[in-house]
Amino acid sequence: MRTPLIAGNWKMNKTASEAAAFARELIQRKLNSPAIEIVIAPPFTAIDSVRHALGAKSPIGLAGQNLHWEDRGAYTGEVSAPMLKDLGCRYVILGHSERRALFGERDDVIQKKLAAAFRHGLKPILCVGESLGEREAGHTTEIIAGQLKGSLAGFTAAQLAMLTIAYEPVWAIGTGKAASPEQAISVHQTIRQFLLREWSTALAQGTRILYGGSVTPQNASSFLASDEIDGALVGGACLPTESFASIADLAQKRTGH
Ligand code: PEP
Repeated sequence: MRTPLIAGNWKMNKTASEAAAFARELIQRKLNSPAIEIVIAPPFTAIDSVRHALGAKSPIGLAGQNLHWEDRGAYTGEVSAPMLKDLGCRYVILGHSERRALFGERDDVIQKKLAAAFRHGLKPILCVGESLGEREAGHTTEIIAGQLKGSLAGFTAAQLAMLTIAYEPVWAIGTGKAASPEQAISVHQTIRQFLLREWSTALAQGTRILYGGSVTPQNASSFLASDEIDGALVGGACLPTESFASIADLAQKRTGH
């Protein structure tokens, strides 16, 4: 019912020309199954070169890694939703833990960014996740619920139909220590219960929830095997074409295509 999504978050990696070379290599892998969606999030400076290298008919979608909540104005260094749309982006990653930790993004700011994405028809991938200390103190559920409550406040179910959520435990990001599938499944269920309680069964059942945090070609299948996990947000392992394409291949195989 939910189309699996494999998304690659490049973070601050690859120049525009390196990115174009990556896109040309990715095309060779012929990842064009309609059964899954594949999205890559290059740095802003490389989105246009990736778009041209992929070509107009590419099934691979583009995402921004962030946006500003206003459409335009005196916000030096920022990029808006209309700018991302104009570059061909269909998605935008919001609330990544690096933005929360390094750039002080709070849930109320993320809420404004989500509103900008909805306003302009960009599909947000909202990241939520607890720190190791929060998990060890037994606070995972309340942290996730708090992040969802704060960032999704005031949106209608119709708006949220555009949303994908990525559960990314902070302690698993870039550490090589992925969550276990059981840990991920349990949080995904918590997220679905929250959507059901606050909105509707239809929203809870229709929303894609990805797992992110040290996903590799070696462990991806263990996550993708669960019906609760609708794909992956991949950081480090999305940078070499080979490993990103392998993860996408695994997701494709899981759908039987
Ligand atoms: C991320 O930054 O979203 C991420 C999941 O990174 P990694 O796969 O490197 O842990």
